[in-house]
Formats: sequence, structure tokens, C-alpha cells
Amino acid sequence: MSFAWRSEKQSDRNPVAYLSMEIAVTPEMPTYSGGLGVLAGDTLRAAADLGLQMVAVTLVHRRGYFEQHLDANGKQTEEPQPWSPETLLAPEEPIVRLTIEDRSVAIRAWRYDLEGITGHVVPVYFLDTNLEENDPGDRKLTDRLYGGDGNHRLRQEAVLGMGGARILDAMGYVPSVYHMNEGHAALLTVALLEQERHGANVDHASEEDIASVRERCVFTTHTPVPAGHDRFSPEQAYRILGQDRAQLLERVGAFHDGLLNMTYIALRFSRFVNGVAMQHGKVSREMFPDYSISAITNGVHARTWTAPSFQAAFDRHMPRWKQDNISLRYAIDIPESEIAAAHAEAKSRLLAAVKERTGVELHPEIFTVGFARRAATYKRSDLLFHDPERLIKLAHEFGGLQIVYAGKAHPADEPGKAMIRHVIELAKQLNTDALKIVYLENYEWTLGALMTSGADLWLNTPKRPYEASGTSGMKAALNGVPSLSILDGWWIEGWIEGVTGWAIGDHDEEDGEAVSLYDHLEHTILPLYTRQPEEWHRIMRSTIALNGSYFNTQRMLEQYVLDAYFPEDTVQESPALEPAIAK
Ligand SMILES: *Cc1c(COP(=O)(O)O)cnc(C)c1O
Repeated sequence: MSFAWRSEKQSDRNPVAYLSMEIAVTPEMPTYSGGLGVLAGDTLRAAADLGLQMVAVTLVHRRGYFEQHLDANGKQTEEPQPWSPETLLAPEEPIVRLTIEDRSVAIRAWRYDLEGITGHVVPVYFLDTNLEENDPGDRKLTDRLYGGDGNHRLRQEAVLGMGGARILDAMGYVPSVYHMNEGHAALLTVALLEQERHGANVDHASEEDIASVRERCVFTTHTPVPAGHDRFSPEQAYRILGQDRAQLLERVGAFHDGLLNMTYIALRFSRFVNGVAMQHGKVSREMFPDYSISAITNGVHARTWTAPSFQAAFDRHMPRWKQDNISLRYAIDIPESEIAAAHAEAKSRLLAAVKERTGVELHPEIFTVGFARRAATYKRSDLLFHDPERLIKLAHEFGGLQIVYAGKAHPADEPGKAMIRHVIELAKQLNTDALKIVYLENYEWTLGALMTSGADLWLNTPKRPYEASGTSGMKAALNGVPSLSILDGWWIEGWIEGVTGWAIGDHDEEDGEAVSLYDHLEHTILPLYTRQPEEWHRIMRSTIALNGSYFNTQRMLEQYVLDAYFPEDTVQESPALEPAIAK
């Protein structure tokens, strides 16, 4: 199988190489923390379905991210998630060596084959430094995702970017394009420059050498918060990367405000850069005005995130929806009764999981709001509780209200942890017969799938403009679950009032946003759900047809192919020596 309309530019030795600090490959492997890793996995699953020649590189994260436990007061504790690459992955032969902090670090890879709907395979290589010849500290470099201090992080990023480039080379790949998924992989470009110079000092790299690397690299930025971009002190850069590399990075302008900034490395060495939604493209252009930054809106892998009951309905009505996600547009013809039945089944699976995990019995007829995401403060998981009295009143007026929460806070994120405690405290205070609030532990892939398909409404309340895209609402849309969300990230593009969901009004004050949230529930959403079920099911159906057919990684990857990987008019003709200049 090949991606027929691009096949002449690709062979299995010249694939697109995709580098990402986290990749969610299967639910059994805790090699991701959240949205970034799920997006990476969904991208590669779409590549496998489309028959695109692609290979991926990440770290093996032998102890995972963390398993979350919450006590009765909402205090989060973290457990490692050890897993065994040896039993789930195939070992690869080559071992490459990389000098990090004056020590030679040996790196090997494990392979997982992602197989697409047509049988095409996208291999994912998991880098591992747990080799006997390594210094004991270096053996732990690929242990924990986002663990450790800045020194550890920079060493990990050297393994990912530079180790990744070298191991692909050692395996005989000559990638046609390198795609850096977020700045973590940016040191890839330094390794490519070293290859270009056959090991000669990179500090003396010429503009031609740099241009040759730029021709092969594309970069996706994901973070509209300046503090979210990895930065390291000059001392760390010189000590860990060595003088040649650090001097090069300084010379090309990758130090910013006195710090080595991974985003600037990637920007400087990429011929194509994009944000992950239209709005995020704009925000990124404001953050990095010297660079030309496009936007390609995220998606989710349709087959992965559609509940079994909806998969069966799609199979009956659009039998090729898995090969051709656009045919989800024809969901507009599915009878309301089938939508209702498929959703009832997805909801009962969620309620069974809630019962099993918490002992709380939720009612299948009662309106259920889902909210699950990383507990970062800008996500504001407590906005729904801004006016508890009003929430209680709504629950009484409309025959009850159920709210299902989940989300982890990064172990070092104290404000995020405080927000979880706050939600759980409020849940305890507010729980009555009419209003039931549960917070489920350990949000991950499987729970995410249950929640996005089983809720009646998907709520998202980020503070603008900090949501780069968001993808959980896209998973909900595939399952006919409309969103109620702040107009930020993907929702600016996906929102059609009363057709795919509702927008929380734009206010500078939190008060105003909360009032808009309650107003929507009271005047529109709850009356529709409780009194006009047919109309509700029509909204569910249009949500699938309009948003499921578009916000998927098949459409997204086709855009990457056309605009980033193989844009026929720019690959050969762009002025190679110019750094990208803002329009
Ligand atoms: C989809 C998903 C995310 C990302 O969702 P957002 O809407 O971007 O917050 C995070 N974690 C898990 C486990 C997911 O499945």
C-alpha cells in the first residue's frame, strides 16, 4: 500500500521521521502523559491507515509517567508505572553512542509496529539508555516522562533528538522529512548538522550546511504559554551539550533572554512551522514575530476514539468510514433512534465504570456532564462551581444533574494539585440526591474513551488564549457528544451554536463566563435534553456529521502531507539560505 498521490517522493527507506517526547501507542504502555502523546499516537495511526511512509522515535519511559491516587480529601499521590519493553516490543540491533556531558552514552531502540486498516505498518522506535556499559545515572535517562530537574530534561532531549537522528541513520533510514512534534526534539537539528559535516566541528557550520538541514525539517509548536517552552541556562547548555554545539546554538540565535530555548532551535532550523489550530497559529505568530508560522488544526484518530456502539452504527450506514473519515459527513442520515440507542450503550459503559471505581451509582436517564483534562490552572476545572447555589437549583429544576471529573496534575504542579482538592471538596459539600459529582482517579486513554463517549455534554473551560487546540472535545464529537466550551483552540472552528454545541460567552471576567455557562445550561441545554429528546438527538447527529468528519487525524495528516511534508512548489524552490521571515 502506498499513499498513491505522493508515492514518487517516498520509499520505505526515505520516510517521514516523526520525533516526539511522548507517544501513546497502546493503553498498556504508559509512554505518554496526555494530549501531546495521544495526538502523536493518533497521527501515526492515521499514517498507517493512509499508507504513508513514516517512522517515529520517542523514549521508552520504563517507569512511565505516573499513576494517580487521590485520597478522600483530594490529595494526589503518585506511583511509578513500571512496564516491560522486553515483553511488548522487538529489540533492534544498532547501538549508537552520543557524548552528553563529556560521557559517552549508549542508546538502543525497541520497535513497536503500528498497523493500519490496510495492513501498512508504521514502526515506532523507543530509545533506551538502560545498557550496562552506561554510567548508572545515564541508565535512568529514559526512565520517567517529564521527571527530574532541568539537567535531566536537557540530557533526555539530547537522547531524543540527537540519539533519534543517529539511530535512524544506523538503521539505514534516510528520512525525506523530519517532523519535530514540539520543541523537545529540537536537538535533532544539531545531529543532522553533525551528519552534514561528517562529524566536523558544528560550531563552524556554514549557512549552506544549515540550509541543508532546514530543507528537511518541519516543526509543530503546541504551547501558547511562554513558560511552556523548554529553556536552559547557558551553563547547562555548555556543560551538557558541549562547547561546539552550545556555541553553534548561540551563534544561530537559539538563546533567547539569555537562555537556550528549544523552540528557537526548532524555529531556526525548520522550513515549515505550524501551530495546532487557527487561533493558535495567530498566537504563535505574535509570540515569534520573526518567523512565518502556519496552522494545521489537530484531530483525533476516528477508529480509536469511537465507542463500539457508534462504530456499529457507522459500519451500517457508512461502511468505509474507517478508510475514509470524510464519509462520517453522511452520519446526517442516521435515524435519531439509532443515535439514541448507540449513546445509551456508551453512557451505560461509563456509568458501569463509575460504579466499579467509586461505588457511586449514577442514573442513566439523568443529564451527565463530562470534564476531563490535565489539572493545569488555566484549564479551570472549578469554573462550573463558581456559583454552587445556582448549580444546585439547576439540578432540582431539571430532574437531577451528574458531573464526572478526571485529570492528573503534574507532580510538581502545586496549584494544579490544589485545584483537584478544591473540586473534590466542593463535590463532597454539594453532593445531594439531585446533584452528583464524582472525580475518577488516574485519567488515561481508556478512561478518556469512556468519558468522551458516555457523557451527554463535554465541558471545557480554559482561560483564553491558553488552549492551543484541545482534542478531547473532538473525541466527544465522534460519539455525538456536543461541547459547551470557551471559544478557544479548536472550538473556534468547530462551534456552530445549537448545531455542534454551545459557546460560553466571551467575558474578561470569570464571573461573566460562569454566568454564561449557567445561562446556557438553564435556558438552552437542560430544557432541550429533558423536554425535546428528538431535537437533542438531532444535535448529536449533526455533531458527528460536521465535526467528526473534520476533526480527525486523517484530515490533519493529509494537510501535513500537502502543506508541510511535500508541498511541491516549496520543497525545491524556497530560498534556502533565508531564515523564515514573517509575512
Ligand atoms: C485526549 C486526551 C487528552 C487531551 O485532551 P484535551 O482536550 O487536550 O485536554 C489528555 N489526556 C488523555 C488521557 C486523553 O485521552
